[in-house]
Amino acid sequence: MKTSPAVIAIDGPASAGKSTLGKKLAENLGYLFFDTGCLYRAVTLCALKRGIPVTDSEAISRLAAALDIQVTHPEVHDGRQYTVMVDKIDITWELRSPETDASVSIVSTFPGVRKTLTERMREIACAGSVVMVGRDIGTVVLPNAPLKIYLDAKIDERARRRHAEIIARGEHSDFEKVIGSMRHRDLTDSLRETAPLRVAADAHVIDTTGIEPDHVFTAIKNIVQKHSS
Ligand code: C5P
Repeated sequence: MKTSPAVIAIDGPASAGKSTLGKKLAENLGYLFFDTGCLYRAVTLCALKRGIPVTDSEAISRLAAALDIQVTHPEVHDGRQYTVMVDKIDITWELRSPETDASVSIVSTFPGVRKTLTERMREIACAGSVVMVGRDIGTVVLPNAPLKIYLDAKIDERARRRHAEIIARGEHSDFEKVIGSMRHRDLTDSLRETAPLRVAADAHVIDTTGIEPDHVFTAIKNIVQKHSS
């Protein structure tokens, strides 16, 4: 039997399918699934809750270093992919609020925040058997990852997916606001100085626009197979 790459890095913009496909792949391989965006979201949400201005790079960097963020397998079955606890409080769904969406990419530009969270991600990846998804996993966090995948899709489709997700959770959603916020986040993530969203030179790029998730999954599995030894 062949051995799959120990670490699989999946990067790409919001709602390109990283989490759904990354989770499915991890389950299929018996790997840990780790969605690094939840760490940036947790720091952002805690800053908002504590009234720290999201422009205060130093205060938020200190907060990132001090917070005890625990990401665990879900014990609650309400559609979540994992549970995120900060100071023993379950913040999993709040991480997806429009307020967090609107501020997370500003917080993610702060080098102090990135340094703390990147170290955490590297510790998790050290153990191997992990599918790690984010924006800079293949370029900065794990540049030596044996397999890198970059998932992309046209913004209209990504916004439609996000809009449908919010509605499926029973919440109100305004498509124009969703696409506007996504466009803004794409720009901030791509233009920031530290670890911007980029395609790693050795990544396999898959455009998921108009493609059924099952077909994308098959394509990913074929790539994993080719990288197995
Ligand atoms: O993937 P998700 O949409 O949850 O990520 C939220 C935000 O976290 C991104 O828009 C980006 O600003 C930041 N992020 C990052 N680097 C990562 C993962 C997420 O900058 N590796």
